Amino acid sequence: MKPARSGTALGLLGALVVVATVAAGCGAPEAGTARSASVKSGAGDSASLAPSAKPSPTKPTPSASKTVEAAPSESASPAPSDTGSDAPAPASDGGSLEPIWYPNWSPDSGKGEAQPWLALWPRPMVVGPTGSGDLDGKLVVIDPGHNVGNSTHSSQLNKHYWVGLDKICNTTGTATASGFEEATYTFDVAKRLLARLTDAGATVVLTRDRNTTDTYGPCIQARGLLGGQVKADVEVSIHADGGPSSGRGAFVYTPGRLAGYTNASKATESVRLADRVLAGLSNQGLQGSTYLVPNVSPDTQQGTLNVATTPIAIVETLNMANESDAQIAESKSGRQQVADGLFEGIRNYLLGD
Ligand SMILES: [Zn+2]
Repeated sequence: MKPARSGTALGLLGALVVVATVAAGCGAPEAGTARSASVKSGAGDSASLAPSAKPSPTKPTPSASKTVEAAPSESASPAPSDTGSDAPAPASDGGSLEPIWYPNWSPDSGKGEAQPWLALWPRPMVVGPTGSGDLDGKLVVIDPGHNVGNSTHSSQLNKHYWVGLDKICNTTGTATASGFEEATYTFDVAKRLLARLTDAGATVVLTRDRNTTDTYGPCIQARGLLGGQVKADVEVSIHADGGPSSGRGAFVYTPGRLAGYTNASKATESVRLADRVLAGLSNQGLQGSTYLVPNVSPDTQQGTLNVATTPIAIVETLNMANESDAQIAESKSGRQQVADGLFEGIRNYLLGD
């Protein structure tokens, strides 16, 4: 058993704090700038949601402002800053919109509990190494996209925040034709990936420890920032697309260059990560996207990627709207294939291969 990389609690299965990611037919993993995910109230049926147009962003309510403002001031150095001096926390230029994240959270402190909005967020989950191997000492953040409870928390989900652009907290994600939800898929793949990584010696932090209808989020800022908060080597956000039904396969969003958020180093390293991940998926017999080519797409419209200070990628692992890809998503063996492909890609990235 390897000691955890940073702090005793990291090695424990600490379910601590929180945050989140993404979106609408997940072709745009995070719903567009000024639109919000439409949400049904039925719990088990959040999936087939097309984003609906929404008027301009609303200003945070007084209570929300208070909540968010209280956060940064309590934290000495919450913001990630290890990827470059031009990647600060996303609070400086959002106008009336404010960031929402876990300023006080660390695997050791468990802080953040006092923030009212955290009561409805899953906590991050930390799992130390279960074996030893060439990933000894590595720290990986895995973000299982969305949350099955997003569809039942529409008011919270549709609040707007600043992440280098105006975005809502999170979206409901997509689903297969039979109703298997992206949030449930990503959570299962994340756990399978976690098992592979920890067995190889890594410590893994998941951005959410559950997939339940009584919680929502976390918001995309918190998901993207978590890697920097825990000083991770890399972060990967797992998603599935809701693309054209005739199209198949995986593609990856990487951070696009954006002043104040993504510098050249972060952008370049993230593309290297994306290339390794796509190769890993391919080695598992999974194909690259037939409808988004090239399969690596630098994008400044993804808040999760903008705010991150570690190399990061949003992986649209397959297309849930396609019948063949849906069969992969809905089978345990298929999800294991995806997890194995992600594992190989992350491993090769971390080893510099
Ligand atoms: Zn998604």
